[in-house]
Amino acid sequence: MRKLATWVLGLTAVLGALYWWYAADSRMPADADFPLDIAELRRLAGSLPGDLPREVRYEKVTAFSFPGAMIAAGDGWATQEMPIYAYQLVYPDHTAMIDSAMPRDLAKPEFMVPYYDEAAYGRVSAALEKASFILITHEHSDHSGGVLEHPRLASLLPALRLTQVQHDHPQYMKPAVVPEGSLANYQPLRYERATAIAPGVVAVAAPGHTPGSQMVYVKLADGHELLFLGDVSWKRGNIERQRERPRFVTEWLIGEDRHAVFGQLKSLHALSQREPAVRQVPGHDGDVVAELTAEGYLKPEFIRIGNP
Ligand SMILES: [Zn+2]
Repeated sequence: MRKLATWVLGLTAVLGALYWWYAADSRMPADADFPLDIAELRRLAGSLPGDLPREVRYEKVTAFSFPGAMIAAGDGWATQEMPIYAYQLVYPDHTAMIDSAMPRDLAKPEFMVPYYDEAAYGRVSAALEKASFILITHEHSDHSGGVLEHPRLASLLPALRLTQVQHDHPQYMKPAVVPEGSLANYQPLRYERATAIAPGVVAVAAPGHTPGSQMVYVKLADGHELLFLGDVSWKRGNIERQRERPRFVTEWLIGEDRHAVFGQLKSLHALSQREPAVRQVPGHDGDVVAELTAEGYLKPEFIRIGNP
């Protein structure tokens, strides 16, 4: 009997340790760091001549339904919605895009996709064809799929600013697939830390969640500042509470550089304290998007403007 009790206790301890390691541990590494120089981003945003964007609009195309325990290490298993957005920058006489959501055939597994808005996706697909530039925050198909599976991908290439690192990691785009040969003569965007893309728009390399992850800083004509985080964090809580996704997600499902992402969470948290006017937009946080909409930073639904 005593032997059995020892066994049960031992097994419980082992399972507990494994659960803690893979599902709950989110200790910030002491040397985690990510240089994020907001003064430099502001300087770059003003470095190109031309009008700043007047507004940022969004489409919510679909969502994943994830257990909270997948989103932040140690959280409960109740499901949370992870809305999937595409953003449109509206200049006086043209538009541009950040991310492209994904077509319905990529929204899988179906039991984790609570809805799909075909009309919204139709507007995203049409807006991609009008955009003067298209930035993709990272390779994952819920951000890149709308471009990669676009029926007229070739016509989007002059506007598409896929980075060299994104271009070199098609395995991270699955199940989205770059059609054979379609990028044969494509010249990807190459930059080191940060680069001005257009008036008011700066790309910031943030490898970690994926090798080609980048954030996008946007300065609007009305002075509003937005920092699109891609999936550095899925929710605001990851930054507020400094909690990374659990290891069973980062190591088994994504293949993420946890150490790099911790550095980014730390820097973004510090930035949120120091520069609260720079509004951070996590990859999949409906509450943040609702707040920014109420405050006039974001507007729902794309508009059509300019020539194709
Ligand atoms: Zn995502």
